[in-house]
Amino acid sequence: MILFLDFDGVLHPQYEGQPVPADVAFCHLARFESVMRDFPEVEIVISSTWREEFSIERLRAWFSSDIALRITGTTESTVILTSPRMVKQREWETVAWLTTQSRGNEPWIALDDALWQFGQYSDHVVACKSYVGLDASAESRLRMALENPQAVNEKPDKANGNIV
Ligand SMILES: [Mg+2]
Repeated sequence: MILFLDFDGVLHPQYEGQPVPADVAFCHLARFESVMRDFPEVEIVISSTWREEFSIERLRAWFSSDIALRITGTTESTVILTSPRMVKQREWETVAWLTTQSRGNEPWIALDDALWQFGQYSDHVVACKSYVGLDASAESRLRMALENPQAVNEKPDKANGNIV
């Protein structure tokens, strides 16, 4: 199981157009890490745009050492290819990572507040509210997704045995 992790709107509330206040930054990190410790097989790939500003080493340094060890990489920043920038960009980057890593057959979820940046794979997203982040409700949905990835990764028709 691969978890694509966003930061803003997940590990702390989203602050539109301004930096996250220092006393708010990573306020939900402990909650995220506690979930991860209950699912030790989950690999973490950072999809947040923070990857454009900080190295993987710096990104890992925000996490506890046991969780940092499980962060295996980041998605790549896209240039304009066939997908216009900002249109389903997060999904584009996620699928590009899975493809380039030859891991398209593995179960995955995206923990993200930007549900609108996913289209075809929106059923893979455990969505947080942008101005809240990973609250108790989102934690509950994240745990359900990790316990039963099939339920997240398959569209309802497939789950019912009616593969279309
Ligand atoms: Mg976000």
